Amino acid sequence: MLKFVPDYCFNRFDEADAEFLLSIGVRGIILDVDNTLEPYENALPGEHVKAWISSLREAGISLSIVSNNNGERINLFNSELGLPVFYRAKKPFKKNLLRAMEKMGTSPEETVAMGDQIFTDVWAARNAGVRAILVPPINDRRDLLTRFKRLLERPILKKYRKQKEE
Ligand SMILES: [Mg+2]
Repeated sequence: MLKFVPDYCFNRFDEADAEFLLSIGVRGIILDVDNTLEPYENALPGEHVKAWISSLREAGISLSIVSNNNGERINLFNSELGLPVFYRAKKPFKKNLLRAMEKMGTSPEETVAMGDQIFTDVWAARNAGVRAILVPPINDRRDLLTRFKRLLERPILKKYRKQKEE
């Protein structure tokens, strides 16, 4: 169960700013899209997302998108960003995180993956040997499967908080 505990938790994606990422030795970040950067119904990244991505780029941090969603959604979302994208990624499998690192030219030790789901994003990070940042899902309107997964996540988050207190 320990493998599902995220390394870092933030309330929003942009709390993981360039200064923080550099301070933990990160040179590359793998991003989830849906409910991490924007809710499902937003086809394009908002100003906050674009500003944050620019600031990371300026700090020399590489970025990539690894999403389980389809190419239509992800290519449109990425149209103004121009990041390497890997869609239908089948997270928690590690394959597309490894491909993303290859593209960014970063090792697992200097890479972090950010997402909103423990059993998709955090698990994929673990499988690929990279650290994981968890953010709460932006949109709380969830289908039943996601709700069920959240229920399972609860004891894991408790464990994270306990670990931080120790
Ligand atoms: Mg997501």
